[in-house]
Amino acid sequence: MEFSWNDHQKSFREQVRSFIAEHWNEGVRRREGLQLHEQVRAYQQELADAGWLTMSWPKEYGGGGASYIEQMIFAEESTFAQAPTGGQGADRLGPALILFGNEEQRQEHLPKIAHAEISWCQGYSEPGSGSDLASLQTRAVHDGDDFVINGQKIWTSGAQHADWIHVLTRTDPTAPKHRGISYFMVEMGTPGISIRPITQMTDEPGFNETFFEDVRVPAANMIGEENRGWYVSATTLDFERSGINRMAEAVPIYERLLEYAKRSDSAGTGRRVIDGAINRQHLADTMIEINVARLLGYRVSWMQSNDLVPNHESSISKLFGTELQQRNARRGINMLGLGGQLRSGSRHVPMDGELCYAYMATVSRTIAAGTSEIQRNIIATRGLGLPRG
Ligand SMILES: Cc1cc2nc3c(=O)[nH]c(=O)nc-3n(C[C@H](O)[C@H](O)[C@H](O)COP(=O)(O)OP(=O)(O)OC[C@H]3O[C@@H](n4cnc5c(N)ncnc54)[C@H](O)[C@@H]3O)c2cc1C
Repeated sequence: MEFSWNDHQKSFREQVRSFIAEHWNEGVRRREGLQLHEQVRAYQQELADAGWLTMSWPKEYGGGGASYIEQMIFAEESTFAQAPTGGQGADRLGPALILFGNEEQRQEHLPKIAHAEISWCQGYSEPGSGSDLASLQTRAVHDGDDFVINGQKIWTSGAQHADWIHVLTRTDPTAPKHRGISYFMVEMGTPGISIRPITQMTDEPGFNETFFEDVRVPAANMIGEENRGWYVSATTLDFERSGINRMAEAVPIYERLLEYAKRSDSAGTGRRVIDGAINRQHLADTMIEINVARLLGYRVSWMQSNDLVPNHESSISKLFGTELQQRNARRGINMLGLGGQLRSGSRHVPMDGELCYAYMATVSRTIAAGTSEIQRNIIATRGLGLPRG
C-alpha cells in the first residue's frame, strides 16, 4: 500500500490550483440565480477548452484519456475552491453512454458534452418513487419510430437551464418492476415538456417538477435495451455516489471556521471569538473526519483507476461524506452562538452567514443520490452479505 502522490500527480494538482485561481472567483459560488448559472457555463467552457471537463474519457469522444486519479485530483481541488466541475452530462450521463450507448449515440452526444455545448438534467425521481425508484410510473409507449412519454418527474435539479434530460420510463407495466423500465435521452425543447420550479429553504431555485404530456421521442434515443434501463441507471447512480466532492465540500467551510476560531474578539479583550474546550473538541473531531472521508473517497478512485467497479464502497464514501457535511455545519453553527443563525447581510452576522447557509443546504446532501438509509441498506446487503428485508 502506498499513500503518496507521484511527481506527475503533484504537478497536476499545482496546475489545477493555478488554473482555478486564475479563472474562477470563489465568491461567485455564493451568489444565486441566472448570473451564477451563466458564470458556471462560461467557466465550464474554459474547462472544456483546457481539456479538463471530461479528462478521463477516451480521446475519440472528446476526452483527455487521463486517469481516474487525475480526474479525482481535479474534482477535489475544484471543490475545495468552490469551483464548478462537469455537471450531469460530464459526470453521469456521459460515462453511462460510454458503457451502454451505441456508437451513433456516443458520437452524437459525447463530444457536445466534452466541449460544454449542451447541459443535461436527470429525470429519475417521481412524486411516488424516490428511494423505491423502480416503482416509477412515467409511461413510454412504442408508436412507429417513436416512443410517446406521459408522466411526471420531481426534484429535477437544473431542469430550468438544461438542454437535454436523461429519463427513466416504464415500457412494460406487466413485467416485474425492475424489468419493465427503459432509459431515454430527450431534448428539453420537445413539445409536451413543461417545468415548474421548486424553491429550496436556502431560497435557491435549484429543483423543478418536470411534466411530460404526449412527448414524442425517437426510439433511437433509448440507451441500452428496451426494458433493461434499470441496469443503466444503477451504473449512473454508482457514478453519482462515487465523487470525492462530498468530503471536499466540507473543507472550505471548516477551514474558514478554524481561521475564525483563532481570531480575538473585536472589543480588544484578548479573548478568542470562539472559545471553550467543547469547541476545540468539535474542531478536532471534524478534522479527523475529513481525513477519514478523504481516504474513503481515494479508495473509490483507486478502484476505478484499476478497472474495479466500486459499489458499496461508493455508498460508504457518499454516506460518510454527506453526514460529515451536516456534522460540520451543525458544530459550526453551534460554535457561533445565536449569531450563527443569521443570514448573509444581517448586521451582526459572523462569517457572512456561511454557516447558516451550510446548515440549511447540507440537509439535502444525505437525501440526494439516494438517502443515507438506502446507502446503509446497500452496504449491509452488497457489502456485508446480509439478507434483504
Ligand atoms: C439536492 C437534491 C437534488 C436532487 N436531484 C435530483 C435530480 O436531479 N433528479 C432526480 O430524479 N431526483 C433528484 N433528487 C431526488 C432524490 O433522488 C430523492 O429525493 C431521493 O432518492 C429520496 O426519495 P424521496 O425524496 O422520494 O424520499 P422517500 O423515498 O419517500 O424516503 C422517505 C424516507 O424514508 C426512508 N426510506 C425509504 N425507503 C427506505 C428503505 N427501504 N429502508 C430504510 N429507509 C427507507 C428514506 O431514507 C427517507 O428518510 C434530488 C434530491 C435532492 C435532495
